Amino acid sequence: MSELNLILFGPPGAGKGTQADRLREDFQLPHISTGDILRAQVSEGTALGTEAKRFMDAGKLVPDEVIVGMITDRVADGDARDGFLLDGFPRNEHQADALAEALSSLERHLTAALLIEVPDDEIVRRLAGRRVCVKNPSHIYHVDFDPPKHEGVCDQDGSRLLQRDDDREETIRTRLEVYHSQTEPLIGYYDESGLLRRFDGTRGPDEVHAHIRATVATLRLEESL
Ligand code: AMP
Repeated sequence: MSELNLILFGPPGAGKGTQADRLREDFQLPHISTGDILRAQVSEGTALGTEAKRFMDAGKLVPDEVIVGMITDRVADGDARDGFLLDGFPRNEHQADALAEALSSLERHLTAALLIEVPDDEIVRRLAGRRVCVKNPSHIYHVDFDPPKHEGVCDQDGSRLLQRDDDREETIRTRLEVYHSQTEPLIGYYDESGLLRRFDGTRGPDEVHAHIRATVATLRLEESL
């Protein structure tokens, strides 16, 4: 079976986590989310978590030294041997170069860079109303578009729902600026190497998922030829 080495990128709130969760099941790939890894470190109170939290709360990127080694090690793990779905990494050209080098030293390469596009105004509406389960960050709700049955309580496991510290409006604006200045250049970067695939993230989650799944299934077929 051919490998599926995928990255999923796009502005914060584009639906990367939701789509990654579904694709993980469709294609049996480990979902590696740098944001989730960092938030787990924060809640465990590790030194790395304490260092990262300052940047995360301000909506800024955590320094590359902290993150690059963590992810390049992770893609070399046994469960990522047949592929992975990276969500939230790379976020700038330096990280993209580091990933390409790490893969090349493993004699592997990226299969595709999946971009989910959503305009800024829609992002602000989405993120300001987002609520996440304290126990499982993939249980995600929205106060208007996808409310839980009981306010503030996760439908799936009964845990409390909270607003992420970085989902406050002023932090969202900073995260969008960081996205436009640092991550958006990756669109050209991956387009040049023929790896870019674009998806309209303003569509409903089922439609976005159907498009991405069809694209990834085609890529897998092409890789195996
Ligand atoms: P996310 O859940 O992907 O939106 O990530 C939340 C926060 O974690 C970001 O705003 C950054 O502060 C930090 N973060 C996540 N991934 C990265 C990365 N690849 N490089 C630097 N910082 C990151």
